[in-house]
Order: sequence, then structure tokens, then C-alpha cells
Amino acid sequence: MKTINHWIGGKPVEGTSGRFAPVYNPATGTQEKQVAFATVDEVDAAVASAKAAFESWGTASLAKRTAFLFKYRELLDAHRDEIAALITAEHGKVHSDALGEVARGMEIVELACGIPEKLKGELSTQVSTRVDVASIRQPLGVVAGITPFNFPAMVPMWMFPIAIACGNTFVLKPSEKDPSASYLLAELASQAGLPDGVLNIVQGDKVAVDRLLEHPDIAAVSFVGSTPIAKYIQLKAVEHGKRVQALGGAKNHMLVLPDADLDFAADQAINAAYGSAGERCMAVSVVVAVGDTGDELVGKIAERAKALKIGPGTDPSSEMGPLITREHRDKVALYVASAAEQGAEVVVDGTGYTVDGHEEGFFLGVSLLDKVPVTADAYRDEIFGPVLCVVRAETYDDAIKLINSSRWGNGTAIFTRDGGAARRFQLEVQAGMVGVNVPIPVPVGYHSFGGWKDSLFGDHHIYGNDGIAFYTQGKVITTRWPDPSDGGINLGFPSNS
Ligand code: NAD
Repeated sequence: MKTINHWIGGKPVEGTSGRFAPVYNPATGTQEKQVAFATVDEVDAAVASAKAAFESWGTASLAKRTAFLFKYRELLDAHRDEIAALITAEHGKVHSDALGEVARGMEIVELACGIPEKLKGELSTQVSTRVDVASIRQPLGVVAGITPFNFPAMVPMWMFPIAIACGNTFVLKPSEKDPSASYLLAELASQAGLPDGVLNIVQGDKVAVDRLLEHPDIAAVSFVGSTPIAKYIQLKAVEHGKRVQALGGAKNHMLVLPDADLDFAADQAINAAYGSAGERCMAVSVVVAVGDTGDELVGKIAERAKALKIGPGTDPSSEMGPLITREHRDKVALYVASAAEQGAEVVVDGTGYTVDGHEEGFFLGVSLLDKVPVTADAYRDEIFGPVLCVVRAETYDDAIKLINSSRWGNGTAIFTRDGGAARRFQLEVQAGMVGVNVPIPVPVGYHSFGGWKDSLFGDHHIYGNDGIAFYTQGKVITTRWPDPSDGGINLGFPSNS
């Protein structure tokens, strides 16, 4: 059986812990690979390699860093299909969706190619007589990333291209459920000429994560994953004196006003709720139907939901693939059952769904729950599966109150033809990313991605300008080239003249 190992100092390193996790093909339900779990010593070796590489990478010219990034982008482009195939094989999402993930990750590499423009700094001349002030940003040193299963290529690429472009070196701990895609990203980085040790991967579980959080040579930690772990990461990283950005879970609401185009809204609700089997942090998991739209909208969504083609991600006709594990699939199915007991109407029941020839695959049909009470577990928890809840609200004010009472604030969207209502929503809604007639408003690479409330711990969003600020520290330099007349004693606080 193939073992996925660590990538340290520009080469594969076999794990020695004797601890492994299975890596499944979710479409067949069979274990096809295993991933080695790192020991503390192996994490230390990766950090030592990154620290040694920082000696020269931290001062490498912008020209050298960008030469690598441009070459890397070319190689990623040439290997899109291979990366996507690995994602489909271990995560299960359909190939076209996996290609979309690779493209969105590459956006960040493209942003990083322009890093000289972003790191230009600021200069004020003659702030006082013969005194100039420059603000520059410098790398932090060794930084770490800990990433979730649901975007095994894109989320690592939200982090390391910018970190590296800014002059840092990086240690990545990918999800143990689908580790191969990021491993290939590291191999390609080496092929593109990245010096050994600048990008390292340690596979593992809590042992590896805890060591990264405690390690004195790690300056900053980026995390993307579930809310409980994000909170834990933030607290522990801060306790150990690190800068941290920890992105958590979500429950994204899509508000549909009575004047919306309901066919368009139904299409978008389907795409955003069931794409990638609902395993997206920006998935729409709640539709809030305002006024008298509910019955018609639910009818339109149900009609479309029943027609979706579910099957293995390698089949080009599949629109939705399996879930990540058997346990997760079964947990998602329980939410559908409990919603019915807790007062929701099950309009489409996707539980017990099987795909011919793939009976052992981790498949689940799509479910649509209507009139879901806000006290139901299906409304209160992040399900992270193909289950869409519809909640009815009498007015816009009721709807916004509901959305703003959520503990999460990742993404949200409004569907309407009324510009005034959309404008109010943009200003009033408590979420980090807002769509107007856009159901999954994932910002482009040159804007930053991040939620509010329990969807993000830390004060920097990820990638874009926030990403660059996160991976650099500011320095302000006040310079005077003296003239003999500048001499003399003056104990007063420096003031400008
Ligand atoms: P997860 O929190 O279980 O795992 C994320 C990472 O943390 C993995 O690398 C995992 O190995 C590690 N980890 C898990 N348990 C740990 C522990 N006890 N101690 C230390 N490390 C631990 O998340 P997941 O199931 O891989 O991903 C799905 C979650 O990620 C969802 O909640 C989803 O909303 C969230 N997510 C959020 C965003 C965002 O941008 N806000 C993006 C993608 C996914």
C-alpha cells in the first residue's frame, strides 16, 4: 500500500512513528493509501530545515523570489489535471470542481508573482529638516499552516505562496484525510527551483499540530478548519507567543426577498448548497425565504434537487460526489432524521442513497428541509454535507435579525432586484463576505478572505492584502544625514521642525 510521507528539506522523508491513518477513495469506500503521522522529532526536523533555509531565502532578492513564482505558476498550469485527479481520488469531489479548486489556488500564486508591487513600502522625505521616514515590511521567519480536508490544494495555496513570496519559509500540516495534493504541490515547487527547506510538509495529527504550536522557532500559524479546533489553535498559539489567524466553520444564510427571480435563486441555492456535497465553508446551508416566496421557492429547489446526478467524481456526468468518510456521511444523515423529529418538513430525503456499482462508496443523496425550527440541531450546527435548510421569515427585518443572531459570520448572500434592500443588507449583515445575487462570494485573490464571529479567530483575514500583512512585520526607519548645524544637546521628545 502506498504511504504518503513527509517532505522535508526538498525531499521525501519516511515517517518513523509507526502511526498511520488510512486514506480512502470515498467513491469506492476502499483504503488505497496510508499517511504517516509525524513524531515530535520529525516536526522539529522540518522546522530546523525551514529555519536554515530562511537564512538565505529571507534575504533573497525579489527578482529571485518572483522568478520562482512565475515558474511555479507555469508548472501548476501544466499539472492542473493531475492535481485535480488526486483531489477527486481522496476527497471525492467531481473532477470539474477539483479543477476549479486548483484554479482558485493558482490565483494566489498569481497574486504572489506581483509581490514586489505589494512590498514597495512607503517613504516620506523631509518630515523634519533633513529627516526622511521609510516604512518597510519584512518576513517573520518560519511560519506554519494547518489545513482542512475540504480544499486539499486550494487552502494550502491560500497560505504558502504569499508567505514564501514575502520571504518566509513554511511548514505545512495538511489534512490527514487527503494529503496527496499538497504533497504534489511541494514536489512541483522544488521542480520550479524553490530552494530546499523553504516549503516543508509534515503529515500528522494533534501530535504534529501541537508541536508546531509550541515550537519556539515558529513565528506565526495560519489555520483553516472547524471552529472548535480554530479556537484551540488560537489560544495555544497565542500562549506560545505566536501571531495567529485561525479560520473556523460556518453556517451561511442566503436571504431571498419576494422580488427576486426565483428560478435564478433556486439554481444558485442548489449550486451553493450541494456543490462539493456541501463540504465547503462557503456553502449555503440555510435559505431564508422572506414573505410569501417560501412555497414557490421550495418547490423550485426540490424539483432541481431531485434531478441532480450523484456519482463518482471521475465520471464526467456526475454533478456531486461522495462525502469524505463513512462516519461523516452517517453523521450528516442523522441530522436529516433529527430535523424531522424536531419539527422540520423533509421535502427531499437523501439518506440511504446508493450509487450502482459503488455501494461501498460514502455517498449520500441531497436533502431539503423546510420550515426548520431555529432550535433544531440541523439549523444550529454546521452539518457540512448536502443538506439545505429553509427557514421562513415574514419580513426583511426578521430575516436579518435571524442571520445576525448566528454564532458564525463567514459568508452570506441576498437575492433581490431591489438595490436599496441589497445596500441595506451589505451594511447591516454581520458576516465577513457578502454576496449580492452571488451565492458563494469567495473573494478573488487580491481581496482577502475571512469571516466574522466564530468563523475567524485572529485579526487578519487570509490572502490578499491581509495575507501579506499577516506574513510580514512592519519596520519604520527615520533617517538623518547630518549637517554640522544639527548638533547640540536637547533632552526633549523629538519633534519636527
Ligand atoms: P478540522 O478542524 O477537523 O481539521 C483541520 C485541521 O486541524 C486538520 O489538519 C486536522 O488534522 C487538524 N486537527 C483536527 N483535530 C485536531 C486537534 N484536536 N488538535 C490539533 N489539530 C487538529 O476540519 P476539517 O474537518 O478538516 O475541515 C472542515 C471544517 O473546516 C469545517 O468546519 C469547515 O467550515 C472548515 N473550513 C473553514 C474554512 C474557512 O475559510 N473559514 C475553509 C475550509 C474549511
